[in-house]
Amino acid sequence: MVVRSWRHIKERYNLIGVICKNCGTVYFPPREICPKCRRKTKFEEIKLSGRGKVYTYSVVHVAPKDFEKQAPYVIAIIELEEGAKITGQIVDCKPEDVYIGMPVEAVFRRIKEDGDDGVITYGYKFRPIEN
Ligand SMILES: [Zn+2]
Repeated sequence: MVVRSWRHIKERYNLIGVICKNCGTVYFPPREICPKCRRKTKFEEIKLSGRGKVYTYSVVHVAPKDFEKQAPYVIAIIELEEGAKITGQIVDCKPEDVYIGMPVEAVFRRIKEDGDDGVITYGYKFRPIEN
């Protein structure tokens, strides 16, 4: 995938989930069916705020090859304001400063750059919300 401008990146990586109109549960990433409602599932797309708090996290000291320059880093499960839980990397703060319940927001960042063809992969990460 070649991304030509920041605007396109934002469009591509907006956090779009689904909300089940039957029970109100929000899912991200979107899925086909609500496990609670099954055949009664009524999904609608919902744009997520990207804001939430750290639900749980772990510090990665030994990273996979593509990410070893970034180690140590923090992978957290974020509970979004809308209720969905998603996994993401915490950026812009030291691993020792991360805590459960820390308010965070989604940001779009470079995930990795492949050496040979220079393809850059973007995606969402999370950073602390400053008060
Ligand atoms: Zn449901």
